[in-house]
This record gives sequence, structure tokens and C-alpha cells, in this order.
Amino acid sequence: MNPYEKLCNKDPRNPLFSDLYGYEDETPIPRGDCACDNCFYGRDAMALVILSYQEVLEGVYATPKGYQDVCWNLAADALGKPRPH
Ligand SMILES: [Zn+2]
Repeated sequence: MNPYEKLCNKDPRNPLFSDLYGYEDETPIPRGDCACDNCFYGRDAMALVILSYQEVLEGVYATPKGYQDVCWNLAADALGKPRPH
């Protein structure tokens, strides 16, 4: 499953975005009162959670060795828990 395909159709990260909106200068705003299939059925919310975890993992991977505090803070932010450091 490609989580980007489940994002709002008006989110530029969605692969369908350029097919639907790439010809206009104006960029639509994702979510809000959007009624595209992904938003209407709630697929957008799950995709955002998956992508937020992916961002955390990328942050952990990019953290230099010896900076565990940064990783803990990233994990705490993703989980909505207080930062340990
Ligand atoms: Zn939408």
C-alpha cells in the first residue's frame, strides 16, 4: 500500500494530485471541508498517521550516533507524550 495514494486528493503529496490539479496555478488546500473519497471515508487520517511515523523514523535514521535524546524527543512528539529530555 502506498500511503500517499490515501492522502486527500488535494494534497500535493498524493500521486493523483498532478493529474487532478497540476494544470492550475492555484494550489487547492487539502482537508478542511474537502469531500474527496479519501477524506470522506477517513483514509486521509490513517495515511497521515502512517506518514508521521515515517517522518519520525527518517528523523531517527538521520540522527547522528550518540544523540539518543533527539530520538527520544522525536518519539515522544509522535506519541503525544512529554519529552523525556
Ligand atoms: Zn480530500
